[in-house]
This record gives sequence, structure tokens and C-alpha cells, in this order.
Amino acid sequence: MDKQTTITLKKVCVYCASSDQCDQVYKEAAFEVGSQLAKNGVSIVYGGSSSGLMGSLADGAIKHGGKITGILPEFLNSVERVHTGLDDLIFVKDLHERKRLMIEGVDGVVSLPGGTGTFEELLEAMTWKRLGLYLNPIILVNTKNYFEPLIQLIEKAITERFLTPDQRQIFKIINFPGELISTLKNNN
Ligand code: AMP
Repeated sequence: MDKQTTITLKKVCVYCASSDQCDQVYKEAAFEVGSQLAKNGVSIVYGGSSSGLMGSLADGAIKHGGKITGILPEFLNSVERVHTGLDDLIFVKDLHERKRLMIEGVDGVVSLPGGTGTFEELLEAMTWKRLGLYLNPIILVNTKNYFEPLIQLIEKAITERFLTPDQRQIFKIINFPGELISTLKNNN
């Protein structure tokens, strides 16, 4: 786990909020993540919605000519929800199939702040990584220190020996979108 390797970045999966009610600072960070990935030629797979941080992420990517694919379960297919500017929109049977497809073949997973949907996706990716089913980086974009309680919970799990100390390395934390590309590339 501590051998330094640089990975080729072609496609990443981004998990993030559907809420539009959150502070503008989160939306700006999501837009910037989309922009950074697009400017660096990295294509994005995400939830496909135009709402919340998902919409900001997609807008940032599209503005900078990025390739972005949305994966939506059929029951979420409605005009208000689907982002109309995507390169690809894939409809799947249910949320389980979506999660499996979103992470398949990606060079990295990025989580922005969000609610239970984001937590679920992120925690599943962490579990897959623990079990060796997914091997690439998982990056938390810790805008406004949003993930602090989750980081504390992981520390508690280590203290209580539900996780081992080396499992801290399952994910990396960055505070600003500007750190994203170098952190994704440096798979140590
Ligand atoms: P949440 O953080 O609870 O808002 O959930 C956001 C995550 O769950 C996204 O990464 C999506 O994959 C999925 N999701 C939740 N709500 C929606 C929605 N209305 N449209 C598309 N995806 C959604």
C-alpha cells in the first residue's frame, strides 16, 4: 500500500448531493471539480441529475469541454431531474445496478459532500476497496470540513478495532478541488 505509483487517469466516478438547498460554497466546489477533470481530459461518470451538486459538477465539466456520462435508475427518469447536456445517459433497472456500473472500470472515485445517497455510494466504494474489489484512489473533497464527523467515525472504528490502522489509507482527503488531479494521480 505504501509503494508510490502514478496512475493513468482516464475516467473517474463522482458521488455528490442532489440537494439544491445547500450553501453556495459546495456548489462552487462541485463546479470546480467538474472543470478540473474536464481540463485534464478526465471523463466523468456520475448520477445524471441536473439538481444540486450533481448539476454544478456537470455544468463545470460541460463548460470546459469534458466528457460526462450520467447513470440513472429508470424510476428517477423525469424532465426536472435529468441533465440534458450530457454526452451519455444510461438507464439502469435499479440503484444497485447503478452503483455497480458507476464504479466499473474507473481510475478513481471522488466524493463531494452530500446526503444518504452520497454516504451510501462512498461507503460501498470504501468497502470494495477494503476487500480488494476496487483498487484505485478514493478522494473526499472536504469542503467546509464537511466530512469531519465521518473521519472521526472511522477513527473510532480503528480505536474500537473494527478497522485496522492501515485502513486509514482506504481514502484520501483534500480540502480544495485544485488538489484533486495530483492526488488522484498519486496512488500511494
Ligand atoms: P444524496 O447525497 O442523498 O443527495 O444522493 C446523491 C447521490 O445519490 C448521487 O451521487 C446519485 O448517484 C444518487 N441520487 C440521489 N438522488 C438523486 C436524484 N434525484 N437524481 C439522480 N441521482 C440521485
